[in-house]
Amino acid sequence: MLHIPANTKLLAVIGAPISHSLSPIMHNAAIAHLGLDYTYLPLEVEIQNLASAVEGLATIKNFVGFNLTIPHKQEIMPLLREISTIAQTVGAVNTVKRTEKGWIGTNTDVAGFLAPLPKLNRDWQKTAVLILGNGGAARAVVVGCLELGCPMIHVVGRDQTKLQQFQQQVNAQMRGYNLRVHPWASLDTLLEFAGLVVNTTPLGMGKDVLGSPLTSSQIAKLPPQAIVYDLIYNPRQTKLLQLAKEQGLAEINGLEMLLHQGALALEFWLDIPAPIKIMQLALENALTRA
Ligand code: NAP
Repeated sequence: MLHIPANTKLLAVIGAPISHSLSPIMHNAAIAHLGLDYTYLPLEVEIQNLASAVEGLATIKNFVGFNLTIPHKQEIMPLLREISTIAQTVGAVNTVKRTEKGWIGTNTDVAGFLAPLPKLNRDWQKTAVLILGNGGAARAVVVGCLELGCPMIHVVGRDQTKLQQFQQQVNAQMRGYNLRVHPWASLDTLLEFAGLVVNTTPLGMGKDVLGSPLTSSQIAKLPPQAIVYDLIYNPRQTKLLQLAKEQGLAEINGLEMLLHQGALALEFWLDIPAPIKIMQLALENALTRA
């Protein structure tokens, strides 16, 4: 029988929906490996209840910190005492911990996004980026590409109003940065210049598992050295990545991003190195079972 003593420290991921999240599997594997008296829980909280949930968690003395996923990464920000510079730049928080001052937040998605890129050995300062979608993850990708030194970012979205807001927010945080937004209909004109294509839409997972944001003939227009990066990690090979592979392009899925943002979150809470191999194995086993 599972026994959780009263002094067990608690961590969690807060989202709605939450059942798809692999974070509890990844973090509980790390905690068990480290022999710590912690438990990591999935908490389903609707957007309108986030403030009261976070207020309630503050009253639970053994609650140490939490991750945030859809749709809370921006809504959490006014509820925090302090926000790291990187999270302010992204405009989103995915990791929060308790301190004597109150809740403080950071963003580990940017570092997670960047994690698989160095091994590709590209000249990022000459790489134009094409981001498909303009939601929360796209903001972290923009900040990551800024860190890489990419000279130009094109963002394609389906809602003109949201695209304009996206551009305004990015301009406010990253003045002078070379970012342009485009309607989905302009996609074909952007492909031949893209050195890195990043899918930040859910096309390729869940109910859209058979979907792809690019067709085979669109992928054929990409330069031969282009990298196709899909933030989706389940399935590991999305339709987009399958098409990219067929064209001989380099492809990356979202598993390493998930792993590294999780490892950095654990280090933020515990101040000790995360057992990254154990976390990776737990994720791979979970995906094999799925
Ligand atoms: P989000 O804020 O909801 O943004 C999703 C974006 O995709 C929005 O711009 C949305 O457009 C667009 N979109 C949705 N359905 C579309 C469709 N059928 N056609 C074209 N565009 C569509 O979500 P998010 O937090 O950015 O997450 C996006 C994806 O990244 C998800 O698949 C998530 O699992 C993945 N992700 C992975 C990691 C990781 O660690 N690997 C981390 C974060 C996110 P509208 O605004 O017009 O609806």
